[in-house]
Amino acid sequence: MSKILLPNTKLFINNEWVESISGKKFKTFNPVNEELICEVSEGDKADVDIAVKAARNALENGEWGKMTSEDRGRIILKFANLIEKHKDNLAILETLDNGKPLTASKGYDITQSEKTLRYFGGWADKIQGKTIPISNEYTSMTRHEPIGVVALIVAWNYPCMLLCWKLGPALAAGCTIVAKPSEFTPLTALYLCDLIKEAGFPPGVFNLVNGFGSTVGNALSHHMDIDKISFTGSTITGRLIMEGAAKSNLKPVTLELGGKSPNIFFNDCDVNHIAKCAKDYVFSNSMQSCCAPTRFFVQENIYEAFLQIFTEKIKQLKVGDPYDNDTHLGPLVSKQQHDRVLGYIEKGKSEGATCHLGGGNYHHADGKGYFVQPTIFTNVTDNMTICKEEIFGPVVVILPFKTVDEVIKRANDSTYGLAAGIWTKDISLALNVSNKLKSGSVWINEYYSIMPSIPFGGYKQSGIGRDLSEYAIQSYLSIKAVTISHKTLYAQQN
Ligand code: NAD
Repeated sequence: MSKILLPNTKLFINNEWVESISGKKFKTFNPVNEELICEVSEGDKADVDIAVKAARNALENGEWGKMTSEDRGRIILKFANLIEKHKDNLAILETLDNGKPLTASKGYDITQSEKTLRYFGGWADKIQGKTIPISNEYTSMTRHEPIGVVALIVAWNYPCMLLCWKLGPALAAGCTIVAKPSEFTPLTALYLCDLIKEAGFPPGVFNLVNGFGSTVGNALSHHMDIDKISFTGSTITGRLIMEGAAKSNLKPVTLELGGKSPNIFFNDCDVNHIAKCAKDYVFSNSMQSCCAPTRFFVQENIYEAFLQIFTEKIKQLKVGDPYDNDTHLGPLVSKQQHDRVLGYIEKGKSEGATCHLGGGNYHHADGKGYFVQPTIFTNVTDNMTICKEEIFGPVVVILPFKTVDEVIKRANDSTYGLAAGIWTKDISLALNVSNKLKSGSVWINEYYSIMPSIPFGGYKQSGIGRDLSEYAIQSYLSIKAVTISHKTLYAQQN
């Protein structure tokens, strides 16, 4: 592993590093060995006010608001290039703070961050309104204007990538930003600040206030001068954000929330896909993914074979040092998350499910770190807690089913609706089932097909609005209709 270059840990406002007003700091820990990595400046409401003023000023009086969309795009692309250039260090930092394998940090998180910004950089000068035909006496057109100052609040599971998913469309639309990363993983966002400055974003376009949800997050959602919030996190916090928006200035919200995604294997699926799914998809990010395939529905004729192949493959997954290239699962992000997941495992056992594999702590070399074994439950009923609630850790339930109608009903029997997988050689079946699933993403014969140009978001309590793609840009725009009457002029001249 190369030497780690830690970022500046102050608040970043107006392209400057500043201490928080209170001077307070919070600690961030390495989930592999539970040791302190560093202390980070802790913001509060007063710091949020300063950051929002900086963002407002940059929007209304600064260079950013006057810049051509082409120049805006050029700066976003330069930012993407800088992320690419600093990929190694960003990846190491992400693994240090979050615990995910370095291969994933580099090959997925940071690569996707860069690709997302590149995609939206290309959009900046293609955001345009329409002309609306009414009659020969009117010309009406829409202007797509930046919605204004936006707050971006994100979770700890893909810290850099989730921020870039929101930064891309917000910057392309011409907004200015106050961002708050998770208090568990502040490091990569801090590192991005210097790249933002180097890319040439004018002061105040991007501001970062680290801190806690109950203080910084709460101040952002209740702020009277923030025009929109885009949030990724739990459904519980999503409700609080929406409440803050409703109780303040009715700012619109985009909410990317939790999930309990079904993954359906039909009798005719390609057997190789079972092994591939087990090896490459299921336990990726230790299932600390909003769209993790947590509920496996397996059609009865292949149930036994599925369980055997799946279990064998899962047994081969390596848990351990995230800096080792062969590691599939690192530790969970925090002690809190580790204990929460073990609590769900115990609940599964006490409610009568069979713990088929795993089911406890994974003991790493020195006994330290927040590791949990990949865990498979069988003999699960649909109403058990482990089948209903988001666990956000390496735990799957395997549920046999008989008919197509039955599996559609059971797959949809969730308060969530984020993603779903379908595995079959019958494309008609796959498309018909996909049409009936209440889910923001459906992946057929693959899982996690997430790309910058494909919208991502949830049905039901998995969220409101979409990240990624052209659809995401729309949520960072205000649409102004300008209508010109040429009736009078025309009448006078004739
Ligand atoms: P969380 O809701 O606890 O925290 C997310 C962010 O919100 C953090 O920055 C936190 O500090 C902040 N926050 C907490 N309380 C707040 C408040 N009262 N007001 C404003 N902000 C507040 O979620 P988490 O534990 O960090 O992340 C895990 C959750 O995120 C899971 O439920 C997961 O499904 C969800 N998630 C969803 C997506 C998606 O795209 N749908 C992606 C990743 C994670």
